[in-house]
Order: sequence, then C-alpha cells, then structure tokens
Amino acid sequence: MGHTETRTDTLAPVEVSRTPRISLIARPQFIEPEHLAVQWRGPGSDGERLAEYAGRLCYMSQHNPVNRTTAEYLENIKKQGHGSVLEHAVYVLLIEGISRSCSHELVRHRAGFGYSQLSQRYVDESHAAFVMPPATLGDARLEEEWLHQVTEAQAAYVHAVEGLMQRYEWVSDKVHRRKMAREAARSVLPNATEVKIVVSGNARAWRTMLELRCGEESLTTVFCRVVSCASRVHFVF
Ligand SMILES: Cc1cc2nc3c(=O)[nH]c(=O)nc-3n(C[C@H](O)[C@H](O)[C@H](O)COP(=O)(O)OP(=O)(O)OC[C@H]3O[C@@H](n4cnc5c(N)ncnc54)[C@H](O)[C@@H]3O)c2cc1C
Repeated sequence: MGHTETRTDTLAPVEVSRTPRISLIARPQFIEPEHLAVQWRGPGSDGERLAEYAGRLCYMSQHNPVNRTTAEYLENIKKQGHGSVLEHAVYVLLIEGISRSCSHELVRHRAGFGYSQLSQRYVDESHAAFVMPPATLGDARLEEEWLHQVTEAQAAYVHAVEGLMQRYEWVSDKVHRRKMAREAARSVLPNATEVKIVVSGNARAWRTMLELRCGEESLTTVFCRVVSCASRVHFVF
C-alpha cells in the first residue's frame, strides 16, 4: 500500500499511500435449522443464503415452488423492493490507505452502518501516511508539489505538538496532556492524512452506498470500486 518517499529538503520523509487496502474481516455464517430447511438451487454464499432464507420465511416458500436459484431469487427480491431481507447479512471491512476526506464522505452513510475510526486525539500522527489524490497521480510536477505540501504540514503538526506539550506541562497526567496537544495540533493536518477505519454494514446499506457513490469521479469512487470488487465474491450486489 504505502511507501516512503525521500523529500528534497531536510525534513523527514513522509509515507505516501496510493491505493486503498480493503480487508474483509467478518461475514455472515448461515446455520440452517433442520426443522425448516429450504430447497436450494444454485450456488450461494452464507450471506446470500441467509437473505433468501429470511425472504422465504415471509411466504413460507421453503419448497421453492418456482425453482429459482439463489441468484435469481435475490434478483427478484431487489426488483420487488423487498430489500429488508438483505439487512440480515452484515459484512465488516478493515479499510486502510484512504484519506480523511474520503472517510468523512463514508461516515455520512448512517443507516445500517457502524464505524470505528483511528483517533487523531489518541494516536500520534507524526509519522502518518498521506494519500495521494488520484487526480495528482502520474504527473511528476504535481506529485512533487503535493509531497512538499504534505511534508510541510506534517512538520507543522510535529512542531505544534511540541509547543502544546510545553504549554500544558502543568497537566500531570501525561496521557491526558498528549491528548490535549494532539487534539489541537491535528488542526494543521491536511485532508490527505491517511485513516484506518473498521466499517460494518449490512448488504442493503452497502448497496445503497455503492449506488450513490459509484457514479461520480471522486476519491470515494475509487474506494467504492474496490469495495464493490471485494464484496461481489460474497454477495450478489
Ligand atoms: C455526489 C454527492 C455529493 C454530496 N455533496 C454533499 C455536500 O456538498 N454537502 C453535504 O453535507 N453532503 C453531501 N453529500 C452527502 C449526502 O448528503 C449524504 O449525507 C450521503 O450521501 C449519505 O446519504 P444518505 O443520507 O442517503 O445515506 P444513509 O444515512 O445511509 O441513509 C440511507 C437511506 O436511509 C434513509 N434515511 C436515513 N436516515 C434517515 C432519516 N433520518 N430520516 C429519513 N430517512 C432516513 C434515506 O432513505 C436514506 O437515503 C453528497 C453525497 C453525494 C453522493
């Protein structure tokens, strides 16, 4: 994902991330009750089976009267607008290598999502990586200027933390003092600062988010494409 680039001046090198890294860290495990089993057709992941199972319970159609495969069944569910059955399947992703601006767009999606994001109050950002915007990639001059800008910003952060630690020397609890200093110093960090975030979302929520975000050219679009690829293996999105 990220790699370290040496700067042209005397400041320390910064780590640059060019591609998001997405790891699926949890997905549904479907456990079919023996006393109320479904006549399955075709392949299906645990999440897909779970959604189909819930849908079939609504009409007690476990005997699969129309002989639909799981893929056909879920396609029909989506067409009918019966999307609530997709909410049973929850997928959890660890997302790294995205910028703070990208994660800010992401966390605006509320319904069906849960988030745990790296705290800039508790974590020292003196060695944080920075995410290069896709629009800058590949242009040597723009890349160099951008690298210079984020490097300056990181140096300003380090300087601010030092000053604030001195200002709040009277705070005896060192952990609290550091938190106060980092909380104020982070204000000079750019939107490009890398974040790590764990996102849990049900299949319906992921679908809504992907529909909204994959149509536009932004950082989130890039991120959505990766999520879309990773998730497709486990659910018919
Ligand atoms: C192209 C684009 C540009 C944007 N630009 C801006 C911008 O300039 N400024 C800005 O602030 N934001 C902006 N946003 C963010 C946008 O306003 C939404 O916050 C974001 O897309 C999340 O969408 P959502 O609220 O539908 O998602 P979710 O919160 O996940 O909600 C999903 C769906 O659940 C339902 N729902 C959720 N909460 C409620 C509720 N409280 N009451 C009733 N129904 C609810 C709605 O049907 C909603 O569509 C932009 C988004 C996009 C895609």
